[in-house]
Amino acid sequence: MNAFRLPVCVLSILLVAAISPAQTAPDPAPQATPKPEARRPERRVETRRELARNHEPVPLSAYNDQPRLAIILVIDQFRADYLERWRADFKNRGFDLFLEHGAYFPDCYYDYANLKTAPGHAAIGTGAYTDGNGISSNEWWDLRRNQQRPVTSVEDERYKLVGLPASSIPADMPGAAANAAKYVTGSSPRNLLASTVGDELRLATEGQAKVFGISLKDRAAILPAGAAANGAFWIDPASGYWVTSSFYMKQLPDWANAFNTGPAISQAEQEAGLIPPPASVSPNSTTAPASPTPPTASAAPTPPTAPAAPTTAPASPPQTTTATPPTATPSTAPAPQATGATPAAPSTPPTNVTNFFEQVGRTPAANDYELNFAEALIQGEQLGQGNVTDMLTISLSANDILGHQVGPDSPQEEQMVDSLDTQLDAFFTWLDNNIPGGLGNVWIALTADHGVAPVPATAAQYGLNAATIDVDKLIAALNYAINMKFSPGEKLQYILPHQELPYLSLNEPQFMKAGINEQEAEQAVQQALPAAVASLGPRTPEPPPSDSPVASSGQPALQPSDTRLPPRPVLFRSYTRQQLADGPYPPTPWGEMLAHSYSRNGGWYIMVIPAAFQMGLTRGTNHFTPWSYDRHVPLGLYGAPFAPGIYHGRVEPVDIAATFASLLGINQPSASVGHILTQALKPAAEVTYPRIVPPRVHHPPAAEHKARETHVPPTPGTTAPAQPPTTLQ
Ligand SMILES: [Zn+2]
Repeated sequence: MNAFRLPVCVLSILLVAAISPAQTAPDPAPQATPKPEARRPERRVETRRELARNHEPVPLSAYNDQPRLAIILVIDQFRADYLERWRADFKNRGFDLFLEHGAYFPDCYYDYANLKTAPGHAAIGTGAYTDGNGISSNEWWDLRRNQQRPVTSVEDERYKLVGLPASSIPADMPGAAANAAKYVTGSSPRNLLASTVGDELRLATEGQAKVFGISLKDRAAILPAGAAANGAFWIDPASGYWVTSSFYMKQLPDWANAFNTGPAISQAEQEAGLIPPPASVSPNSTTAPASPTPPTASAAPTPPTAPAAPTTAPASPPQTTTATPPTATPSTAPAPQATGATPAAPSTPPTNVTNFFEQVGRTPAANDYELNFAEALIQGEQLGQGNVTDMLTISLSANDILGHQVGPDSPQEEQMVDSLDTQLDAFFTWLDNNIPGGLGNVWIALTADHGVAPVPATAAQYGLNAATIDVDKLIAALNYAINMKFSPGEKLQYILPHQELPYLSLNEPQFMKAGINEQEAEQAVQQALPAAVASLGPRTPEPPPSDSPVASSGQPALQPSDTRLPPRPVLFRSYTRQQLADGPYPPTPWGEMLAHSYSRNGGWYIMVIPAAFQMGLTRGTNHFTPWSYDRHVPLGLYGAPFAPGIYHGRVEPVDIAATFASLLGINQPSASVGHILTQALKPAAEVTYPRIVPPRVHHPPAAEHKARETHVPPTPGTTAPAQPPTTLQ
């Protein structure tokens, strides 16, 4: 079915120059000015007359390279209301590609309770929630693997990182500098228990489809792409170098090494305002800074600062516990060379950027950096040039890194979103110019891994009870209570440290030593929770119990306050692991959310859900709750099968994988619970793709005349009916 394609001819570059890729796009979007350096597609787009002549009905599917490329675009921490709130700012076809030229769903909510980066990205790729895909958080305690710290969702000590620059080689690898970070492990989707839509595409096409994932964060590159992906790329936090894991490949592809040693890193640092601009712009520059005004907060270099509490660290970079410390060697400092490490670029200017992830990552420059890498990947791996559909997942991390610090209501957030609008316009224009047939041959899904809460102080200004909870103090209060119950006078650690709500893992061996089983242990902690949470709040006057002598005496028991009292932590609900595992769940939407959130990760644990607008102590804000502001994300679809429009009504991000699988003609991912978004699908007969025909070779006059007579360009090794289709019947 799929051996249709002809080899690309170099001459086609000349022949296509006069043809606009958008001419034949099924849903023409406003033309944006192409980047001057953009390459033209290497195949000619068929004219309408040729389309009519050469039309051959062939089923629409991945097997017939329809579309050429499917992209799942994830913005890390992006609440759906941003697109309405700042819509007047949008120009050209950035976000408006979805809002005006695609199918957009303004009421997309996740249906689970642990909204976090790793489970969110896993849900997008697998079309399943935590109960199906196994990813419950960014990290959790696994005492069998590590007794010192929680393990991350993707770290895997059986593999090693590939492509680390010499300056970032950790102490456990050959060639490490004396002050290198202690250790680092490789990464893999070892905890991902379900297939992704990309995995299914690889299986269905017997490996012909190419699937890749990229992000600044390892978890956000690996989890949406999946185990069968050809590769996943993320950055070394200190240097910004793109790396991968030996799970995927032994060494970086040449194009990735070229990107790392080229001007991109220093360009990003310049764009972020961290290093001065060069005296003259490099002629090799492929990047036009799309956001001339970085957020004001990022105008000056920001030394990496420790968050208020380690258990609530916002926006932890990949390999949080192993990342290069703030005092580490600058990324250009000489360091011994390790086998497989990428040599530092001799042309790289001096930089004092010691944590690229934090310092560049919180500015719009990071989005340019990622999208430029995406373009390099598409070119380097020739995505969209094969015989079947290829797939790329892109997770843009910058919004999350900044958003944790400043919150959703800050001017910096609006600037970041407006910059991203411009950057997406440039990226989509690049796709239009570089994928054969242009954007008409591409599908793009837009979504986010989670939303975010308002900064507690902001919400409290409006009167909401937006308290913060000091999780370290909560753990200390619980340890005190459990010691009182099971080992009076002792200070044993029954609750493990370094945790983030809603999960509190228990120290199973400690309980076992005391002869306490899981049920007793979890119930004891659950019973101690209300008092422990209450102990964290400010001391405010409370009326006496109604049956007390004071209350029945008719005397005023307290002096009412003239002003609003400070917020106080409130425990909304708590569940033991056994309750979550065994149910029964209430037959309500709440019960379904809980069921979708269950995981065996973390050993014995309690799920602690604070009241809305409350969170663990943080320097900014956070997301990790079942509340709407964390669950509300965009869902937009652009591409030939999607009827443009605004579609109100609840949908979920897991619907993307199900819808793509259906339209590609492949199996849904193994644990998929998504629905196919049929309300936004065009009738099959109306779906058309720009047809790509082989380039016309410059023949001598006689041969050219003969070729025109046949009306079908010569196709070596195949017959005319095997031409790619343009219309689904
Ligand atoms: Zn995230």
